[in-house]
Amino acid sequence: MGLIGVMFKKPLNDVEVVRNVLQIFAARAASELERQQDEVRIRQLAFCDAGTQLPNRSAFMRHLESVVADPQTTELALLLLDLNHFKEINDTAGHDLGDLVLKAVAERFAASITEGQYLARLGGDEFVVVCPGVQANSALATAQRLCDSIALPFMVEQHSFELSVGIGLALYPQDAATPLELLKHADIAMYQAKRQKLPVCVFEPWMERIVAEQLHIAKRLASAIAEKQLNLHFQPQVDLHSGRLIGAEALCRWHDEELGQVSPGKFIPIAEERGMIVALGSWVIEEACRQLAAWREQGHSMPGQLAINIAAQQFEEDDLVASVLNRCTQFAVEASQLSLEITESGIMENPEKAIAITEVLKSKGLGLSIDDFGTGYSSLAYLKRFAADKIKIDISFVRDMLTSDNDRVIVATIIAMANTLGLETIAEGIENQDQITALLALGCAQGQGYYFDRPLTAKEFAERWLR
Ligand code: C2E
Ligand code: MG
Ligand code: MG
Repeated sequence: MGLIGVMFKKPLNDVEVVRNVLQIFAARAASELERQQDEVRIRQLAFCDAGTQLPNRSAFMRHLESVVADPQTTELALLLLDLNHFKEINDTAGHDLGDLVLKAVAERFAASITEGQYLARLGGDEFVVVCPGVQANSALATAQRLCDSIALPFMVEQHSFELSVGIGLALYPQDAATPLELLKHADIAMYQAKRQKLPVCVFEPWMERIVAEQLHIAKRLASAIAEKQLNLHFQPQVDLHSGRLIGAEALCRWHDEELGQVSPGKFIPIAEERGMIVALGSWVIEEACRQLAAWREQGHSMPGQLAINIAAQQFEEDDLVASVLNRCTQFAVEASQLSLEITESGIMENPEKAIAITEVLKSKGLGLSIDDFGTGYSSLAYLKRFAADKIKIDISFVRDMLTSDNDRVIVATIIAMANTLGLETIAEGIENQDQITALLALGCAQGQGYYFDRPLTAKEFAERWLR
């Protein structure tokens, strides 16, 4: 590890003492050398991402701080990249393959940046690129190159993976005064890109206001969920021939002291984006069972099934089936009194898993409907295997089927296809008699909509619809 030489003026008599002294010196020197090596290794570990060999978050922050502090830096652009649906690769192919894909992605990104630009991995499937001395236009060109670089599928161990990325772009000093603020704003722009399903989004101040507002709503929603301050409304589903009740859909409602009545169109996406939908959904399942039991105790009989909306993330949970069945047992409700609605796009987020779960659900007697049908892009191959028993024709087609030939044809096609697959159909959003006549002529005999009734409180629903 090293060499120590000592020169003496006179010949040595006591060799033993000198040898000991030299040994001590040598040991000291060796441990110093070892310490230096450790330091290099620790540095490597602390600042390099082991999976991709790119600089990691700490290295990136140091780099960004030094670039911003450099008096020669007049402007720079920061790109924040987040892969779309990367979690699915991890979930379906496993983390080992996922890591290899990330490594390959990092290589393509590295090959598509230009001299002077700095690429790092922030963690997970998030990357950043620092582009010194550039303005929006040339940063957008870099963003485009990064997008293009992963357009071709990745071949990893005989598997082919298709990837895309959402990129947020923020400019210094235009959009931010400090490195941290710049990163935060690039993150907000990336979030907008994802929301709007765009490849790239440039930061604008209004985005920050929206995020702040959503964060505020999210905080209040979290406590509303925890304190069980949500409630359910019930909308009747009827037989279009006779007008008789054949079931109902439970729809979540939230009245907040400060925000007032917040529509599910607003709070459900927030709950989905911020990881609260599973808790919300589990409360909905509990409350729906509790209500069925309460109606039964009040001597009402609820015909057909009570439909509950289930978000895609709930389908990802391994204990969904068990928790629905547990609630049924707790309130002495038959599983067959419930039906689950999952949206078409929800199924397509992880079709194989959805198919597996639905088979179990079906075997336990639960009903299963595909909600908002016609708005997603489901493949017929999956649809055939998905053990649904009902398709809900999306409100948009029902609304426009009387005025648009296109929509009428779509409704006719959905009904014909459902018939072929042996599925029932129900039309949502019926608002007038003409729609009923048209739907019946096309072969759809179930419906739901304001024409029959709006979503009602449990008490109203019992008074108006239950005997
Ligand atoms: P959805 O499941 O497709 O529910 C149907 C929506 O259409 C409901 O809106 C209902 O009030 C509305 N609607 C019913 N009939 C008519 C009509 O004749 N005309 C019009 N214009 N609208 C009608 P709502 O209650 O605002 O719910 C919106 C969405 O929020 C639901 O769409 C569902 O995707 C989601 N949602 C509601 N409750 C829950 C829940 O408990 N869990 C989950 N995951 N999502 C929920
Ligand atoms: Mg629904
Ligand atoms: Mg719907």
